[in-house]
Parts: sequence; C-alpha cells; structure tokens
Amino acid sequence: MANKIAKRKAATSRTRGKKAAKGAARLCACDCGKPATRTFAQGHDAKARSLILKVQRGELKAADLPATLRTAELAKGDGLIARLLRKLQA
Ligand SMILES: [Zn+2]
Repeated sequence: MANKIAKRKAATSRTRGKKAAKGAARLCACDCGKPATRTFAQGHDAKARSLILKVQRGELKAADLPATLRTAELAKGDGLIARLLRKLQA
C-alpha cells in the first residue's frame, strides 16, 4: 500500500516538471499573446494559415500580417505555414 502512494507521488512531481517547462515557453506566433509550447498555440496554426491565404487572395496586405508571422525563422522548414510564407516572399 505504501508503495502505491509513493508511485502516485512520483507521477505528480513528473507532471509538475512538465508544467514548469510549459511556463517557460514562448508566445504563439499568430500574435494572440497566448503562451505556446510550440510555434503556435493549439489550433492557431489554422488562424495563421487563413491570414496568409487572405494575403494570397489579395484581401489583406502582407504588411498587415502580424510581425510574429513575418519572421525569417517561421519561413524556414517544411511545414505548411513555412511553405505559404515562402510563396508570399517569392
Ligand atoms: Zn495564437
């Protein structure tokens, strides 16, 4: 029984470690200001994608994209957002 409790405690401290790592994360690249563990907060890559597609259709100026979406770092790589951004720059 005591062993079970010890295991549960270990799991809890692991979870805490994960949360602490999340707290040190950057902000979402769609400029919403939410903390994100990756480039975008969950689902916000879709927001960014729709903004980029608006620019492609001429409904929005490239200069009106959030500055966080116009970084060179984001245009690198093989992801959809990166490819769309490179298309805009070309
Ligand atoms: Zn966002």
